[in-house]
Formats: sequence, structure tokens, C-alpha cells
Amino acid sequence: MTNAGNEMSRHPEYLNADSVAQKWSFEIPPEPIPEDKIAETVESDVVVLGEGMSGLCTALSCVEEGIATTIVTASSRPVGRGGSVFAVYSKVMERLGYPRFDPTDFFLEEFAACSFQVDQRKWYTFYNKSEESMNWLVDMLEADGVQVVLENGNDCDPHSPTTQPVGTHAFLDDKTTFAGAGINIALRTLEKNYLARGGKIAYRTRGRQLVKDPATGRICGVIAEDETGRFIKFIARKAVVLATGDFSANRDMMAKYCPAFAKHFDGGSGDYNVGFHEKGLFRGEGHLMALWAGAAWQKIFPNAPLIQGSRLGSNMPYGAHRGLRLNANGERFMNEDANAPYSVYAILNQPKSEAFAVWGKNYAYDIDWFSHGSTRGSAPTPPEKVIEKWEAEVEKGRLVKGETIEEVVEKLGLPLEKTLTEIERYNAMCRAGADTDFYKKPKYLQEIRQAPFYGGSLSERRFFSVLGGPRTNHLMQICDESDQPLGGLYAAGTLIGDMFANCYNFRIAGHNYGVCLTLGYVTGKYIAANE
Ligand SMILES: Cc1cc2nc3c(=O)[nH]c(=O)nc-3n(C[C@H](O)[C@H](O)[C@H](O)COP(=O)(O)OP(=O)(O)OC[C@H]3O[C@@H](n4cnc5c(N)ncnc54)[C@H](O)[C@@H]3O)c2cc1C
Repeated sequence: MTNAGNEMSRHPEYLNADSVAQKWSFEIPPEPIPEDKIAETVESDVVVLGEGMSGLCTALSCVEEGIATTIVTASSRPVGRGGSVFAVYSKVMERLGYPRFDPTDFFLEEFAACSFQVDQRKWYTFYNKSEESMNWLVDMLEADGVQVVLENGNDCDPHSPTTQPVGTHAFLDDKTTFAGAGINIALRTLEKNYLARGGKIAYRTRGRQLVKDPATGRICGVIAEDETGRFIKFIARKAVVLATGDFSANRDMMAKYCPAFAKHFDGGSGDYNVGFHEKGLFRGEGHLMALWAGAAWQKIFPNAPLIQGSRLGSNMPYGAHRGLRLNANGERFMNEDANAPYSVYAILNQPKSEAFAVWGKNYAYDIDWFSHGSTRGSAPTPPEKVIEKWEAEVEKGRLVKGETIEEVVEKLGLPLEKTLTEIERYNAMCRAGADTDFYKKPKYLQEIRQAPFYGGSLSERRFFSVLGGPRTNHLMQICDESDQPLGGLYAAGTLIGDMFANCYNFRIAGHNYGVCLTLGYVTGKYIAANE
């Protein structure tokens, strides 16, 4: 025992290096569910746990290869949220005349942004296979009359951290016209094709424990519990695929694996059909089953959160206000050339985690405006419409408005003299075309010049999800502490370990669902060929 350990025994209420090294209660495997409690046994080649985008893509890819597959899902239907899905190229991009996305520099910048921690083999598999996977999906969707479009991204200044490559696909129908909200359209078509090929689904059935073959040690099934409390053993002759989503609604797992953001997730709704919900989706039940069966956790720490900040006063679909940002002391604190996810990190570190924007009417005319949910190639929003939107926000109390800058600063509750001095300093740099404080590019320097003036809080933050989980190799096999596959156990979707690091930065919009699609499709084919 260390000195710290002695201290602990005298003051057990305090943490120290020894006490924080203890196991968490969720890491302790539960008692095995006894055989005499099993009410039914169902046999398939592959069992996929979870019916989100990744589960469905993997399962459909399997049945296409003639593999008997069962989806066991706690939800009562396919589950998803949003609808931006990235692929590096597709027949849609070809038709619209966009070139294939070139990863040469972009991927390196992304790796550098997360200190080269991510598993590059997964990223380049994604690169090499996403065109085939997206075309597979596009063919099915177009056969169902769905329109596949490209979502508008942030501007293409190659040296800006806001830039997004073309390739974010979105699905539209009669009811869904917002590009990036149509994932349920895709899920419906995927499920239809899966069932048509003989795939089976057990709804409202929650995976509880993995089953190991006592002779080989391989994973050979799952014990699940249906809504009446009956235990069903799903035998998997070839493989079990874990596609149970994230662990953002598990407070203990968040505290261990993503501690800086744990306090922002409130434990979730407990709903297995959870859709457009923030602050907690799922409880990491697939992750836990893998750990209890001998899997190691991923190597990257902490797990990357998927969070976003305010889009107030932003001219880019995935952007944040790129004019002047001030903290609660009325001080400028950053180069504002950053998207909404990156901005929120900078703002969280400010006094009271607050920030504010101030701009003039001229801002609507000085730059081009593109709204979230618009499609690639659509015209910018006319300035008059942009101003109309600001006026509507004033009506709702989300923006303040004044005939003078002073009035706006006062309404925002910022220290008047300090803030006015800061705004005048910023305006002088805009007029000179050179930011000598934070070196923002001249093209992003727009003076706060013309009345009326507007202002608002940029402190909104949105906590969507957390990424990663059990240790996963480049073939999506779940591995133990020695990086050896457990055998028969695969990961799909957001649960895949070591895919993302630092934060999900939205530079590749729809990267998440792109991974669910591409790596799910590839894993189905891999299981067919190798298991
Ligand atoms: C508001 C919001 C908007 C988003 N928009 C986008 C977007 O546009 N593009 C994008 O790329 N990403 C988006 N995301 C992230 C995206 O939702 C996830 O990354 C993605 O859904 C992960 O897919 P998945 O298949 O891994 O898991 P999920 O879609 O989360 O599905 C998990 C499935 O597992 C089931 N399940 C859970 N536990 C069990 C169990 N014990 N047994 C059996 N089944 C179980 C669930 O019921 C569900 O069917 C968004 C997230 C949020 C919160």
C-alpha cells in the first residue's frame, strides 16, 4: 500500500490514487442467468443486437450473403435521429458533378486534431468502402421513391477549421424537406429490404448477457429478456454483432470514460426508441456485455463527446457566429473562425461559461448566408430574409435589438465601458483589414457598423452523445486486453472503439452515420467470408 493508501484508510471519504484505481460497480459481471430460466432458444448464424442504422446495415449486409440473421432489439422499431450521412463519393455526387473527396490532406489534419490517436485503418477502410456502401443505400432508397440529396456544408476555405468536404448525403420525401432530418426514411427502407430477404427481428427484447462456448471460449449467443420478463437464448452460429448505441445515459460510465462532460448528461429518458433527444441516449448495455465477457475498453481516453454550441448569428450550416464574440467581462477571447462544436469548447472555458455576440444590420449584406438543412448548390439566403429571421428571434426573446451599440450591450448585461472599448478596437481592426489580436482572416472581419444592432448569448450548448466503447480492431472484432479478438464478437456503429478522439468535431458532417453505414456493410460481408 502506498502512502496515499495509508491516508485513505485514515480518511476513507477522500479519493486518492489507490481508491480511484478501484473497479466501478458496472465492471463487475452479474451472476450468469441460469439455464433453467431460459424459456426459449432461437438459432441463427448471426445475431445483431440493436436496430439503429448500424445494426440494420450490418444485418442486411449479412442476409444478402445468405446468412440467417436475427436482430434482437430493445426498441419497438428502427431507431435514429438526424439524418446526415457522409460518404466520400456516390452516384449522387457524380450526377451533380462533384468530385470525389480527397483525403490526402484532410484526414491528416483530422488525425492531427486528435493527436494521431484514432485507428487510421478504420478511417481508410471507411474511405475505401463508403462509395460502394452509399451506392448500395442510394439504389434501395431511389427504388422506394426517396430523393437523395447533398446537404450544404460550411464554406470551402481549405485552411479554416470550419471547412467541410462535400459528401454529406440526406434523404427527402413528401414530409421531410429539411436536409439532415431523414434518417427514419433510410431506416424504413433498410428494414423493408432486410425483412424481404428473410431477416428476423425480435422487438422489445433487451440483450442481457453474452453466451460463451465453453469448449472454445468464443462468443456464441446472447441471452435476452422480452417485455414480459421471459429469457430467450439467441444462439449465433457465426457471430454476435453489438450495435446497441452509446452510453451517454449511464452516469457511472460517463464518469469513468468521459468525466469532463459527465455532469452535462442527466441520465437519459430510458426510452429504447429514443429519437431527437439530448443529454443522454442509451445506457451502454452492449458495452457492458462485452466487458463482462472479457473485452478490454478502447485505448483512447477520454471517450469523445458529441456536443455542439450555439448557432446564433451564424452564416454557415454547421457554423457558429464568426463575427465578434465577447465573454461576460466584455472581452474578446478567441479567433472566431471556428465551427459550433469547436466554439463550445472555447466558450465553456470562459467566465461562467458564457459568451455573447454583437453585430449590425450590415452583417446580413457583408457575407453570404446558408441555413442548416439546405442542399448543396442552393442559392444563399437573401439578406432581407436573414434580417427577417433575426427579427423573429428578437420577438422570441432569443436576440436583443437596439438603435445603438450601447443599447444592445446594456440589454445583454455586459459591462458597458469595457465592452464598448473592445467593440471599437475590433471595429478599428475590421476597418484596417488586419486582426492584430487573434489574427482572424481579413475576409471574416466585418465591422459592427449599421443600425439596428443585434446581440445574443452564445452560451447554449447541446449534448448529443458519446462515442466509442469496447476495444475494436480494424476488422470490427472486439478484443481483450492483449488485443486478441474474443472470437465471434463484432462492434457496429457508435459503439466501435478507437474510431474518434478528443471530440466529434463535425468537420465531416454525418461521419457517424457514415460509419454506421459503411463499416456495418463491410462487417456483414466480412462475417460472410470469414466466420
Ligand atoms: C439529436 C441528435 C441528432 C443526431 N444527428 C446525427 C446526424 O444527422 N448524423 C450523424 O451521423 N449522427 C447524428 N447523431 C448521432 C447518431 O444518432 C448516432 O451516432 C447513431 O444513431 C448511432 O447509431 P447506432 O446504430 O450505433 O446506434 P443507435 O442508433 O443509437 O441505435 C441503438 C439501438 O440499440 C438498441 N438497444 C439499446 N440497448 C439494447 C439492448 N440492451 N439490447 C438490444 N437492443 C438495445 C436501441 O433500442 C436501438 O435500437 C445525432 C445524435 C443526436 C442525439
